Amino acid sequence: MLPPNSGRRHRDALLERALPGAGLLLAGCAHVDASVGEAVAAARDAGRTLACGPGCDACCRQPIPVTPLEFLLMRSHMRLRLDAATRARLEAQYEGQLAAQPDALQRPCPFLLDGGCSVYAVRPLACRRYLVLDRACAPGEVCTQSRPGDMLIPARKALHAALAMTFPWYAGRWQALGLPEPPAAEPGSEAAQAWLRSVTVPVQNLPWN
Ligand code: SF4
Repeated sequence: MLPPNSGRRHRDALLERALPGAGLLLAGCAHVDASVGEAVAAARDAGRTLACGPGCDACCRQPIPVTPLEFLLMRSHMRLRLDAATRARLEAQYEGQLAAQPDALQRPCPFLLDGGCSVYAVRPLACRRYLVLDRACAPGEVCTQSRPGDMLIPARKALHAALAMTFPWYAGRWQALGLPEPPAAEPGSEAAQAWLRSVTVPVQNLPWN
């Protein structure tokens, strides 16, 4: 989803000081964004248009896969970059959703606010890559199922490369994070990618703060 007045940020000195690993992930985000830009250009050359736009948030109401570092970066952004009033609104919204819907996977992303992404600059890789062509999603529509041919397909190798950039960050931290031990493997190896997939969970399942 694309919120109004959004801009890409790939460096954030405050977050990088607060969260070791933020710089690695932001570099990975820039890598994925470049691959998305290439895919959008190719789609336009093929006569197709990007359907995602302000106020379009159907994708944010599906389970959103995030790695632990992605979640920590979003949470850091929320704590350090959002003003107190916005944080309070997110908190109140989340409490309301928790009371109304006990099934976490039926709840929207907790960072969705007023139809926009409150953590857009640090949104997860999955959000950056999920774009729909020609016609915006209907409310509740899961376009990967209803219209797979309308999904933009950015290069998967860019996603793998972005994740590989973050893999070294987990060494020495996995125990504190309650994660399984990562394999002694090259960041770009299949073993490393498999481990990263194994620690990826829906953002709706993670503790709010
Ligand atoms: S982080 Fe949440 S609100 Fe932001 S784009 Fe992703 S799903 Fe939507």
